[in-house]
Amino acid sequence: MNNIIFFGPPGAGKGTQAKIVAEYLNISHLSTGDILRKKLKDKDDLANNLKEIMSSGNLVSDDILNSIVASRLKNEANNGFILDGYPRTLVQSDFLDNFLKNTSISIRYIFDIQINFNTLKNRIVKRSSEEGREDDNIQVINTRYNEYLNSTQKVSNFYKDKYSNIFYEIDGSLQINEITEKIKKILKIS
Ligand code: AMP
Repeated sequence: MNNIIFFGPPGAGKGTQAKIVAEYLNISHLSTGDILRKKLKDKDDLANNLKEIMSSGNLVSDDILNSIVASRLKNEANNGFILDGYPRTLVQSDFLDNFLKNTSISIRYIFDIQINFNTLKNRIVKRSSEEGREDDNIQVINTRYNEYLNSTQKVSNFYKDKYSNIFYEIDGSLQINEITEKIKKILKIS
């Protein structure tokens, strides 16, 4: 089964690539950011709480993320899936590793899309005018990037050591189609 994880800082293009690859492989694209943004529409206490955290650029609690992902993965495990935006903390990666062990599901590819902070800033500002995301502005970008450096980069480094045989670093400054070609080559699809 083609189970894949995408890592990368906010704005690196992991969501775009995850969507394209999921369509090619006909597997589920599990973007935790998208799942959380959908929950915001509920307008209940949880939604208000999530909105405050997400619009400031901070990370939502591990408990919420772990339970969302566990329930989704149980349904998707037979088809294959792409995790986009999870795991983002070491608590989440521990939870995921245990979950995968207990369910005998394995990850086949890990892509880490790398890009420098200036290119990111420009992209996120552009995305903000196109998509109107509240967390896409200069003040929030700094917080989100720091969350990435403080938490998520530790997770991708951990995976890079532990799963070096399936871990692929990709240059995120390339054009979208060039990045897709590189990924497809690794996945051996054309
Ligand atoms: P994204 O669309 O992946 O950039 O996620 C948007 C926002 O959703 C993040 O800035 C976080 O506030 C929240 N979020 C998404 N995935 C996670 C996660 N795995 N852990 C904690 N918060 C998350």
